[in-house]
Amino acid sequence: MSDEGFAAALPTLREALEAHGLWAKKAFGQHFLLDLNVTRKIARLAQVGAADLVIEVGPGPGGLTRALLETGARVIAVEKDERFRPLLDEVAAACPRLELVFGDALQVDEAALTDGQPAHLISNLPYNVGTPLLIKWLTGPWTPQSLTLMFQREVADRITAPAGDDAYGRLSVIVQATCTARRVLDAPARAFTPPPKVDSAVVRLEPRAERPEPRRLDALQAITAAAFGQRRKMLRASLKALGGEALAREAGLDPQARAEVIPVEGFLALADAWLARR
Ligand code: SAM
Repeated sequence: MSDEGFAAALPTLREALEAHGLWAKKAFGQHFLLDLNVTRKIARLAQVGAADLVIEVGPGPGGLTRALLETGARVIAVEKDERFRPLLDEVAAACPRLELVFGDALQVDEAALTDGQPAHLISNLPYNVGTPLLIKWLTGPWTPQSLTLMFQREVADRITAPAGDDAYGRLSVIVQATCTARRVLDAPARAFTPPPKVDSAVVRLEPRAERPEPRRLDALQAITAAAFGQRRKMLRASLKALGGEALAREAGLDPQARAEVIPVEGFLALADAWLARR
């Protein structure tokens, strides 16, 4: 059966929310995108099409889901809030390329979900779990083909910040060591229903072919936690428990430098020096 005209069979997003008596719940970080022009723009930025498999986290009322299905992609949508089941069942009935999974995305085994096929991750992320989900996808056993994700603008800034920038920190290092990262769209608070207190931005991440192996990533997490835990201190002090001045020298770095000015390669060198000592 052709499902290309699936959208015509569906009510508008506002009608669907009203028909099912649904409203946004703060506890689930719910701020909906009900403007299909915005969700279509995100689908375009994600660069997916008919040959692709997508995991969408948090479909909610399904605005981004509809735009992703319009590209011809197959979509596996993981939603924690059971209230959306009847509404999303209607979308899946209109378009069989949508598979629904109800559960916590933090607990989901993506490799099992996709049956080992490569997949793109696309989401207007719930603010309360956006960062832990990102860390899971970048450092866990399963790697997506690409990630196109909406974050609070402040988190997007941290993801893309270069060394020396005020927003540069642990998240910048972990993301940029594993991916190339670009901010591709700004979304003002008024684009969402209800509007959140802060603006948002979409970030596009492409995992590097030469992603650090798990052991190196674990070391990088330990080093960055210590270094940015006391970001105003010199490396020789903030890394004291991990090797301090000698470790910094072994990594080819000035022990008097502060974490905020050390580029990603410097942190990888610190991780390698630390592993070499163990
Ligand atoms: N995609 C929809 C949109 O753009 O209108 C909704 C986005 S809303 C910011 C976040 C969605 O993630 C909500 O539907 C929420 O219920 C869901 N969610 C929150 N925590 C989740 C989790 N741990 N696992 C899966 N979904 C979650």
